[in-house]
Amino acid sequence: MDIIVVGGGLMGTAAAFFLSRRGLRVTLLERRFVGQGATVASFGNIRRQGRYLPQLPLAHRSRALWGEIDSLLGEDVEFRATGHLRLIHDQDGMEDMQAFAKAAKPWGLDLEMLEPAEIRRRFPGLGPDAIGASFSPEDGSANPRLMAPAFARAAARAGARIVEQAEVTRIERRASGFAVETCQGIFESDQLLVTAGAWGAKMAAAFDEPVPLRLNGPQMAVTEPLPHRILPVVGVWARNHDAGVYFRQVERGNVVFGGGRRVEVPWETGFAKTDPQLLAVQLPHLVRLCPALAHVQVIRTWSGPEGYLSDSLPVMGPSGKVPGLHYAFGFCGHGFQLGPGVGDVMAELIATGQTNTPIGDFSVTRFQDQPAPEPVH
Ligand SMILES: Cc1cc2nc3c(=O)[nH]c(=O)nc-3n(C[C@H](O)[C@H](O)[C@H](O)COP(=O)(O)OP(=O)(O)OC[C@H]3O[C@@H](n4cnc5c(N)ncnc54)[C@H](O)[C@@H]3O)c2cc1C
Repeated sequence: MDIIVVGGGLMGTAAAFFLSRRGLRVTLLERRFVGQGATVASFGNIRRQGRYLPQLPLAHRSRALWGEIDSLLGEDVEFRATGHLRLIHDQDGMEDMQAFAKAAKPWGLDLEMLEPAEIRRRFPGLGPDAIGASFSPEDGSANPRLMAPAFARAAARAGARIVEQAEVTRIERRASGFAVETCQGIFESDQLLVTAGAWGAKMAAAFDEPVPLRLNGPQMAVTEPLPHRILPVVGVWARNHDAGVYFRQVERGNVVFGGGRRVEVPWETGFAKTDPQLLAVQLPHLVRLCPALAHVQVIRTWSGPEGYLSDSLPVMGPSGKVPGLHYAFGFCGHGFQLGPGVGDVMAELIATGQTNTPIGDFSVTRFQDQPAPEPVH
């Protein structure tokens, strides 16, 4: 069986890798260079706290793959299981954390609940006015810049053909399979997997499966390098969206942070431009989480184009209308953690026709009885 994967972000390259390992003949088509969409812009958080609960089996499967990622890919992608700490500043945050921790336990996610004295002892300098925190010890981070190229190289070694600078302009379903037009010619296959990030919505709409997707960008920044002191990824339980800032320190010393409101991204360019005013909103919340950052220099800001569905869940699974067509796009700002698991599950589904990991809630068909969304340009 051969398959074309459209889009070379984390989802497409991971899927190409796992599909190739299952013996399928894979061609991955990427309009630019692999990893240059949402993936390269990611904060790199490998986080399970706060997820939609029925997504946890997929997140656990992905976390297991993160644990063996260097040997799977044959290179160091800076995965570190440093733990993920979420601080709490008010009663609303405490209630949200406690409700999530209780509900997540039967789904296999155990959170440690920390009193203020325990936070000070284990994480000195973090959350001095926090009234509590939750800690997920096996979560952490990896380097988003490395992920898609590393998966693409590993996929190529496993037999996949990776074609860059091949923008897909048209996909036709024929009796024998798919014909995919690009600026490098027409490619044909039995099966097709759409992993084109936000642009997956445009491709689904062309198959009469429109989905309500917005193109937004979380806003990120990085500081000058400092002595390496902060181990966990740090976030907050906050209902105030502006206060939802998170950060981590990379081993080279820079502190990467993001969160709060997102920027609008124009469909025509897909270029996610940062807003200096949002940085001004983020900084006081960052300093509350870690006061030592008050006098540190921010050296760069960036964002990236990410697809957000109206229910904040991705589209994943087979098409409801076209045999042989599959989707994995629209990961709503939380796809980095899921990436290896998405690639593995999609490969299993396509190669065997089934998967034990429940993904029914992410089916494209959930939108079929809704009023048609605004067209994606
Ligand atoms: C700023 C930011 C921070 C984030 N932080 C986190 C985080 O900390 N933790 C987390 O879990 N998630 C995070 N995310 C989300 C995560 O990065 C994404 O969900 C994930 O990278 C999506 O991967 P993807 O492969 O679906 O999309 P993309 O990486 O966007 O890849 C899609 C690819 O398809 C290609 N493409 C599009 N159209 C065509 C076409 N016509 N022909 C050929 N190729 C095409 C694009 O060029 C692109 O390379 C963040 C996202 C952003 C933007």
